[in-house]
Amino acid sequence: MLIRSFKISKKILILFILFVILFVGILLFYSLANDISNDANENNGTENTFIKWVDFNITSEALNLTSKLDIDSHNNNDDITYNWIELLSYFACKNGGNFKNFKKSDLNSLVKQLKEGETISDLTQNLKFYDYYYESYSAVLGNFIGNYAIETTNEDGTKSLKENYGLKAFLPIAKNYSFSHYDDFGNSRSYGFKRTHLGNDLMGSIGTPIIAVESGIVENLGWNQYGGWRIGIRSFDTKRYYYYAHLRKNHPYAENIEEGKIIKAGDVIGYLGMTGYSIKENVNNINVPHLHFGMQLIFDESQVDSPNEIWIDVYQIIEFLKKNRSEVYMNNKETKDYIRKYEFYEDAIFE
Ligand SMILES: [Zn+2]
Repeated sequence: MLIRSFKISKKILILFILFVILFVGILLFYSLANDISNDANENNGTENTFIKWVDFNITSEALNLTSKLDIDSHNNNDDITYNWIELLSYFACKNGGNFKNFKKSDLNSLVKQLKEGETISDLTQNLKFYDYYYESYSAVLGNFIGNYAIETTNEDGTKSLKENYGLKAFLPIAKNYSFSHYDDFGNSRSYGFKRTHLGNDLMGSIGTPIIAVESGIVENLGWNQYGGWRIGIRSFDTKRYYYYAHLRKNHPYAENIEEGKIIKAGDVIGYLGMTGYSIKENVNNINVPHLHFGMQLIFDESQVDSPNEIWIDVYQIIEFLKKNRSEVYMNNKETKDYIRKYEFYEDAIFE
């Protein structure tokens, strides 16, 4: 009896071991197959569903020169109209995305080729990363240049709307307010946990009106442990998230700012301050008053609030935007709130 029962359990044991081996084998096979397909996805980078990383290294000089060509050729109705994002993507292919050695003469020789009848698609058809750069730079600069209408003051002091094709993104610091900055992207920060600086700090006086760089919708508003009083605005095409932080204690935001509200490029959204680095709300824990300005690129919604966020270095963009500043005035003496002086309209706002 004892021997028989032992025999049965031995059979069951062998079956059980075989089953376990089979089960582990299947598991191993699936995890290996998964790894291989993940590797393939990573290697494919650009072709796979969405872009995972962007290094933005275009200098303000390259932005200035290419945008001028784009804008002038459109306004002069030239035979050839230039698209600055195409031109920049072409140079990125030539220099591996590094514009440090970019020269005006490089642009001149490209323009010469285009004038002689070559096209950007001819010149770029064999450039492996052209599509990647074009999509990346479009995500950054896609709505900076285009058609818009802005109020201007006539000689008799009245205002009228003027339609224009040109730069329609604004510097985040209001016109006639001074600020200073340097390229501090990637510097280390120690509050909270060890991390790097994912934006550009614009040092200025407390209360300086802060301007929306681009039109969009207020996505986040209120206190954040790191950013203090902050405002996050998403562009209409959803690809850019603008982050403005450390706004003024007690009175951080311009009038009527709320989550979900449509903001126009050049609107006053808040005031420079030194709040943040505190779990408790409305606390000044930043040493030097400044605006922290950041731009996050979003190619896929899974990149929002994830470890895979893409923040780019905006230092050169700030330098470039110095040429377009929004003038403001105090329109409410009681609350001491400011608004823009010249109204602005662009198609996207009405779509
Ligand atoms: Zn900062």
